[in-house]
Amino acid sequence: MKYSEEFLKAVPKSDLHLHLDGSLRLATLIELAQQEKIELPSYTEAGLKELVFKDSYGNLGEYLHGFMYTCAVLRSAENLERCAYELAIDNQNEGVRYIEVRFAPQLHMDNMGMTMEVILESVNNGLKRAEQEFNSRETVQNGEEPPFHYGIIACAMRMFGKSNFSPYYTRLYSVHKYMPDKEVIKLGALELARAIVRIRDEKGIPIVALDLAGQEHGYPAEYFKDAYDFAHRNFMGKTVHAGEAYGAESIFQAITQTHADRLGHCYSLFDHNKIVDPDIKDKEKYTESLSSFIADSRIGVEVCLTSNMQTNPELKDLTTHAFGKMLEKRLAVSICTDNRLVSNTTVTKELKLATDHFEVTPRVLKDLLAYGFTKSFFPGPYHEKRVYSKRVMNYYDKVAKAHGVEFA
Ligand SMILES: [Zn+2]
Repeated sequence: MKYSEEFLKAVPKSDLHLHLDGSLRLATLIELAQQEKIELPSYTEAGLKELVFKDSYGNLGEYLHGFMYTCAVLRSAENLERCAYELAIDNQNEGVRYIEVRFAPQLHMDNMGMTMEVILESVNNGLKRAEQEFNSRETVQNGEEPPFHYGIIACAMRMFGKSNFSPYYTRLYSVHKYMPDKEVIKLGALELARAIVRIRDEKGIPIVALDLAGQEHGYPAEYFKDAYDFAHRNFMGKTVHAGEAYGAESIFQAITQTHADRLGHCYSLFDHNKIVDPDIKDKEKYTESLSSFIADSRIGVEVCLTSNMQTNPELKDLTTHAFGKMLEKRLAVSICTDNRLVSNTTVTKELKLATDHFEVTPRVLKDLLAYGFTKSFFPGPYHEKRVYSKRVMNYYDKVAKAHGVEFA
């Protein structure tokens, strides 16, 4: 089903899977790199688009290359605040009403005052300022339009390597130099979980969830059980990047071992070739049962179409993406961007892709948008989240009516 871009821009949207360091404005990256004396392969937007932030990538390594530059400029409180603010503004400008911004605080730490606390406070200051500006508009104040809200998700890293790119990990490795590398990575994740719970509680910063990011291969989610157990015991939301490198059985482990409320990507959920457990004889039945379990548990699935196309070269035709089957099986799916800069996308563009390539009736579209609010880690009590979600969906009805998009 096709919808106009104008309509998709006007409807109230969310983005539950949005990396701060992958979503900078290109002009800001160039400006900050010059200011911080960070070397870039080009200092023009066109040059960087040709060399780093491309429309398509040869492999995951190429896709991730740009983060080296974005993370490098995000090592000061001012720059973090500015980029967080601009990210919220860019979202507001395309009709996004709720975002959960994620990043790995440990990648931004240094030995000179950029502590976990300063980093989270800076990002929060930028997002809060954008929120306050938006919500002081007359149309929001008089109830005509729903307000803008946000949450922050902290990512633990699956692996990092001993590069001096991250002073935090360099220090962690040197303190625990007699420990196997994987144990050090696990410690880093647990330290993050403990810190974000404390900072949330002491500073009142809306840190709403723990995530696990980075290369999945060799670092399955269950490996980080301690960090997730801690988050779980402290009523922190849990999401996990799963099903990028591994198949269905690993998605199942990720859910059960990390108490995941949501899954990032879940791209290989229906791919039988990715199942390697020899005990699973009937792969068809296994994926059927698993998808039914995910649907029935109402675990939210964060789908990022462009990003998946870019990092999975075997995915040539978008209509074969697992998203179609997810819709068919009635999973609680929401459409997300992953990285606005690296994937050169917006929520509106992702919705356009989804609705152009799959059977998304007005009823399904409304569900897709609604899941972006009901499956959110809204930073407030459940009854407030319900009121907010309802307000947003009432606004959707108004917009749909004005655009002549109504249910049959
Ligand atoms: Zn991601």
